Amino acid sequence: MALVGIAKLAASSPLLEAKRSVQYFEIPTRSVLNRVKPGMPFRWSINPYRGCEFGCKYCYARYTHEFMEMEVTAFEDKIYAKSNAAHLLRQELRRIAREDGIAIGTATDPYQPAERRYENTRSILEVFARERGRHIGLITKSDLIVRDIDLLREIARANVLGVTITITTLDEKLARLLEPRAPRPDLRLKAVSQLSDAGLYVSVNPNPVMPLITDSERQLDRLAKAARDSGARSLGGGPLFLMPCAQKVFFPFLEEHFPDLAPRYREQYEKSAYLGPAYKDMLRARIQRIRDRYGLDSRHAEYRPEIWQDEEQPRLFPLQ
Ligand code: SF4
Repeated sequence: MALVGIAKLAASSPLLEAKRSVQYFEIPTRSVLNRVKPGMPFRWSINPYRGCEFGCKYCYARYTHEFMEMEVTAFEDKIYAKSNAAHLLRQELRRIAREDGIAIGTATDPYQPAERRYENTRSILEVFARERGRHIGLITKSDLIVRDIDLLREIARANVLGVTITITTLDEKLARLLEPRAPRPDLRLKAVSQLSDAGLYVSVNPNPVMPLITDSERQLDRLAKAARDSGARSLGGGPLFLMPCAQKVFFPFLEEHFPDLAPRYREQYEKSAYLGPAYKDMLRARIQRIRDRYGLDSRHAEYRPEIWQDEEQPRLFPLQ
């Protein structure tokens, strides 16, 4: 069958480097800002890479490699760096409203190992560092983010910036099983501290919360306390959803490591990718109780770091 569109581009992308089983490619891209579906708390997303080497077993973004007519497992060992991202972003920002929320890292991790070499994310932050009045969110599982604290501070001086670090569990062994190539939870907590010490607004995200694996009150409480002690200001929390592309990896993973849970997960998620309202309500109440215990917000606040109060503060709205 002849390849078309993104599959054709992927097939002809030059190989940049191969290490272990992971291969890096450069892929041309027409745009960097992607409009998201209505109902999300931001209007645009940016993902500097296609594919993610961290290889989380529950990852929902594996479908992006299916679009390129590849196996879902190729998502973690064929990584595509989008070329010319900063240049495109500069042009595209001129065409969108300044108050539109922009989220970086919604589908693939912007600080995965490829970033050490290709610095696509850093080049994007350099563009935002020259902007004013933007609303920007960035989410990652990687402590590599602390490399860019200088730029993040620069952005936060003149824009509203929220940084989120995802930590699904503090249990190192469990994290290694679930997120085989992502940084250890203690390294992520240390990154929370460093970002917070730099005056940035940091949130910790336990998503996806996995029933009977990471959802007990005790586990979530420990995580929230560690997040608060590290300087996080808010705590997210939503249940696992499993699209068919994620089921292809997650079900065999359960069968190997949690054989007792595998049939129950299959029964639930083969009916629907989403859990029902009873579980969602239970989890929402549990997380809210825990937030209240530790004084954590549920979402990013519009936050102007106190440490910059003596510096020149540009007005965000209305823009002059
Ligand atoms: S870090 Fe995020 S994008 Fe990367 S594999 Fe894990 S869930 Fe997927």
